[in-house]
Formats: sequence, structure tokens, C-alpha cells
Amino acid sequence: MTFSDLGLIEPIQRAVDESGYKEPTPIQRAAIPYLLEGRDLLGCAQTGTGKTAAFALPILQRLAAHPRRAGQRSARTLILTPTRELAIQIHDSFKTYGKYLRFRYAVIFGGVGQNPQVQALAGGVDVLVATPGRLLDLINQRHLHLRDLEIFVLDEADRMLDMGFIHDVRKVIALLPSRRHNLFFSATMPPDIQRLADAILTEPAKVEVAPVSSTAELIDQSVMYVERGDKKSLLRHVLQDKALKRVIVFTRTKRGANQVSEVLAKSGVPSEAIHGNKSQGARQRALENFKAGRIRVLVATDIAARGIDVEGVTHVINFEVPNVPESYVHRIGRTARAGASGIAISFCDAEERSFIRDIEKLTRRPIPVDREQPYHSASVEAARLVSAGKAKATLEKEQRSGRPSNRRRRRGGGGSAGKPHQGAGGHGRDTP
Ligand code: AMP
Repeated sequence: MTFSDLGLIEPIQRAVDESGYKEPTPIQRAAIPYLLEGRDLLGCAQTGTGKTAAFALPILQRLAAHPRRAGQRSARTLILTPTRELAIQIHDSFKTYGKYLRFRYAVIFGGVGQNPQVQALAGGVDVLVATPGRLLDLINQRHLHLRDLEIFVLDEADRMLDMGFIHDVRKVIALLPSRRHNLFFSATMPPDIQRLADAILTEPAKVEVAPVSSTAELIDQSVMYVERGDKKSLLRHVLQDKALKRVIVFTRTKRGANQVSEVLAKSGVPSEAIHGNKSQGARQRALENFKAGRIRVLVATDIAARGIDVEGVTHVINFEVPNVPESYVHRIGRTARAGASGIAISFCDAEERSFIRDIEKLTRRPIPVDREQPYHSASVEAARLVSAGKAKATLEKEQRSGRPSNRRRRRGGGGSAGKPHQGAGGHGRDTP
């Protein structure tokens, strides 16, 4: 299924194409048709599944289908989300997907001055993304009202509960007009959340996708701390074990993939590299050879790996740790398909330590360290433990204050924000 099968209007389709999305994710496939019809929706899905586009695209289309100018200090759509980071991300997504539509978007959250937010709301907005506390503040000060709201999205409902925002959420709901289109998302459905959903939704369509973290549960994961210069030797060492029957090695860049493949060839391990510079035919042949067992190792970049669905992949090796934590989950999900078990090993050098931390935060589980391998670098590991300790302290501080600290990066930015990370010992710029 492609995005065009979903019946999106041209300006939205164009923005999606420009985002580089080739096909809808499972939650998008499942949710978009219901939402375009105007059905209420109960979505059991978490961040990382493509959830934002699953609601943003049909909302934009509905708003475009019923053009109406929002009145002063009012909003046509409200997305209520627990954290400032999520609010900013969702707002950015709406701006991206809606860039060929003439809508007005605003985002409001606490911890910053309110004046720019008040100004943004003054003329009315089509889409407002908000955290609950600041939203209620501005409503109480009469900078905003929700009487004309058409579409209401409650995002990450279970986290709202965890963070103690549920009373604020109830207060917001009490202010909404009774006729409206409702969307409700939660990664988990404890009884309190189910009751809240029942109170908000009318005959909802239910859509559930495996949370991105649980897809990883069947996979035996480990991290090997290693100096960058030792990674190739470590790979050769690891591949001596014949238990690694069908292996995908991930690199961050195309050049990295070629280099790894060459190194393997020199040590007598036939492999093929697939990445964005290879023709469709070459990729296809490499995949066929891999599927047929003619080569034991496939070296791939993230983009090339999207469509790899090969049964019986025994091991995934992250020659480089991805800086986007969701990519890690996608990569390791190439093994353990259809309920089989699988093994994922990540080679982590000094610069990649924070990426491991981001991954552990997303999957909510620590990745055990393999200290037995001969290239184990205690110094790489030790430095990570120090930074992990700091991260924990920051998280605890946030939980106490109920507010994310300013220093926390937006998700997906990677540990060395803004600094390009080079692939497989390569220099200069290269891409997946
Ligand atoms: P979300 O779950 O909304 O936080 O999305 C997770 C990531 O997936 C974001 O970086 C999106 O840009 C990306 N994404 C969303 N939909 C697609 C798609 N259909 N294909 C590829 N990437 C996507």
C-alpha cells in the first residue's frame, strides 16, 4: 500500500513525498482511512511508530475539506500532549505536512514567557498543540477559548497520568463543545486510561500496533564497547563464530558499508553491500543472494534496510550505533521476525555512547554489555556510565519539577547534536 492509496489530497501527498516517506507505517495504514471518514479513534501506539503523521495527515485533510476561518482566540483543532518536546515535534510535523495548505499553527507549553504564545493565538489558529498546564493558564486569562473546537486529540494519555496531568486533562475536556471529532492515543491501556477513553470517545475505531519497544523483546541484545579503530577486527572476530549464519551488518553511511564489505572480502567472508547508491537491480541481486544463503553477510545502511524482510536472519550487527533510537529498533527488528528469536550486537565507540543511552530510554530496557570479547574497551564503557548517571539525575530532577529541563535535546537529534558523525572510519560527508 502506498500513500496515494489512502486518498490524500495533492498538497498533502506532495508534502509526504518530500518528507521521503515511501509507504505508510502500520498505524498510518490502519488509522488514516477511519480518520478521513471522521470516525473517533482509539489508538494504542507509541512514539516511533509514525503516530504523528497518522493523525496529522487526516486532520489536515478534514480541515481543508471544511474550510472555515478560526475566530479570534480560538482553535479548530487541539492536540494535547504531555511534554514540551512532544509538543514542539508535533507542531513541526503539522507545519511540514501542511506546508502546501494555508493553515495557521501554534504551539504552547510552560516554562517560557507567554507573550509570544498569546500573540500567536490572538487571530485564531487551525491547529494548536499544547501541554495541559499552560493551556489552562491561557484559557483562564481569556487569551483562548475552546468553544469552537472541531477536532480534539489526546496524545500519550498514559504518560499524562504518569506525570500527574490527568486532572488538568479532565478540566480541558470539560471545556470542549460536545460535538467534536475525538482521537485518543496511549501506548498502554490501564483501567484509568480506559475509563477516560470511554468518557471521551463515541463508538471509536480501535487501532493497535505493537509498541516499538516491545518488538525488541524477543531479541537477545548486547553492546560491545570498542575503540573505533578496532571495530573491523572485532567484526572479523565475531564472524568467526559459525552460529552467525545469516547476518546483517549495519553501517551509518554508504562509504562505510562499502568499506566493511571490502574488509570482509579480504578476510574471506563473502558479503554484499546495499545502500542508496546501488541500483535497484544490484540491491535486488544482493538480497536474492542473501536470501538464498549464497552470501552469509549483508552490509546495509538504514535506508536500504527499510524493505528487507528476509526470514531466518540470525544476527544483526550494528557496526555503528544509530543516532536515531527508532532506527535501532527497526534495524534489530530485521532478526526475530515472525516470532523467531534473534541476536543483536552493537559496536559502540566513545562517540556513540550517548546513542546507546537514547536507545535504552526509548526501549525502556538496558542493553547488557559483553565484556568477554577481546577488544573490550573499559574506558569507552566507563565514560558512558558517568554520562548515564548524569542523565538519570536530570530525569529525576524533571520528574520532581514536573517539567522537562531546557537542556534536553529533541528526540532524534543524537548525542553529538549538530555534529555529523562519520561512518566506518570515513572522512568527510557521506549519507545513508
Ligand atoms: P512518530 O511516531 O510520529 O514520532 O514518528 C517517528 C518517526 O518516523 C518520525 O521521525 C517520522 O518522521 C518518521 N515517519 C513517520 N511516518 C513515516 C513513514 N511513512 N515512512 C518513514 N518514516 C516515517
